[in-house]
Amino acid sequence: MNFEKKLRSLSVGEVSLEEPLKNHCSWKIGGPADALVEPGTPEEAARLLLFAREEGLPLIVIGRGTNLLFSDRGIRGIVLKLGSRFAGWSVSGRTVIVRSGQWVPRLVRNLAEGGLSGLEHAAGIPGSFGGLVAMNGGSLRRSVSDNILFVTALSRDGGVRQFSREECAFSYRTSLFQNALRPGRKGWIILEAVLECGEEDPSTLRRELLRVLAERKGKFPLKQPNCGSVFTNAPEIYAEAGAPGKIVEETGLKGLRAGDAQVSSLHANFIVNLGGATARDVLTLMGEIRRRVHRRIGHWLASEVLYADEEGNLVPASERCL
Ligand SMILES: Cc1cc2nc3c(=O)[nH]c(=O)nc-3n(C[C@H](O)[C@H](O)[C@H](O)COP(=O)(O)OP(=O)(O)OC[C@H]3O[C@@H](n4cnc5c(N)ncnc54)[C@H](O)[C@@H]3O)c2cc1C
Repeated sequence: MNFEKKLRSLSVGEVSLEEPLKNHCSWKIGGPADALVEPGTPEEAARLLLFAREEGLPLIVIGRGTNLLFSDRGIRGIVLKLGSRFAGWSVSGRTVIVRSGQWVPRLVRNLAEGGLSGLEHAAGIPGSFGGLVAMNGGSLRRSVSDNILFVTALSRDGGVRQFSREECAFSYRTSLFQNALRPGRKGWIILEAVLECGEEDPSTLRRELLRVLAERKGKFPLKQPNCGSVFTNAPEIYAEAGAPGKIVEETGLKGLRAGDAQVSSLHANFIVNLGGATARDVLTLMGEIRRRVHRRIGHWLASEVLYADEEGNLVPASERCL
């Protein structure tokens, strides 16, 4: 039985073979994955994990690919995507259970309309809820972990476990779940999480959402493919030299180009794809930025963006710069 028939016979969800990964990330960059599978239930996801394990195939999990740079050669293995087929949430009082494929902007808007507060800072973050939890994403000095009570996750051998907030090892833009299922590691796939929200007048929340969204619209190059902030805001560098965008701008790098990848002229911590950028272009540009910044301030910037290589390793893109 070939790869495709075997996968389909297992009932693991929607299977696409030789799927271009540039269609599954906000940078619009990346070669084909041998298979991209979108499960709709935890059982389908568990069957897929066991299949990958038995076949010895690399497997990575993604949401909307808004924090990922895929290799130009794609991935020789399986990409497990938790997206719209794995979406939804339920509310009971101030407690909200959210499935990991849920599109974050819609969740934030709906919670606000229902008078539930806490996630306003995540308005406009264009990812899945699972991605937001794995990255411990947020803005305005807040993170999604501020409102998390529990996370339910699936292990490589198909077992389900509930983690308390403390067990999730949340820290600035990272968590226990980042790099889920990286080969050789005991990884976890987030299935859902329980949030505890506050209560607030819906019209107050609506005003706050509009304020956050307007601020983002003015600051970020939202019309060109990008991956959000490229470099992390490390506290020790911030204390000396400020935020990464300011540092890159003051190094005179706005507009710097490598192929079709360019440092945004609107926000210097964003790299935009001018049309035909490759992963190689982005890694070359990041390398140049890091070297010039290091020369000026004596610090190496690390990236928030993760690079997925052909073997299915997920590492900070700054570790693979050219
Ligand atoms: C225009 C723009 C603006 C942005 N602004 C912000 C911002 O203000 N604040 C911010 O924090 N981020 C921001 N980002 C980055 C990004 O949107 C967030 O990190 C987002 O939460 C990632 O979600 P995703 O579904 O796209 O994850 P992906 O990029 O698909 O994956 C990111 C990581 O999460 C892991 N992952 C994804 N789903 C799961 C799961 N179910 N279980 C386990 N691991 C999983 C992946 O393996 C990978 O390691 C921005 C991005 C863009 C393009």
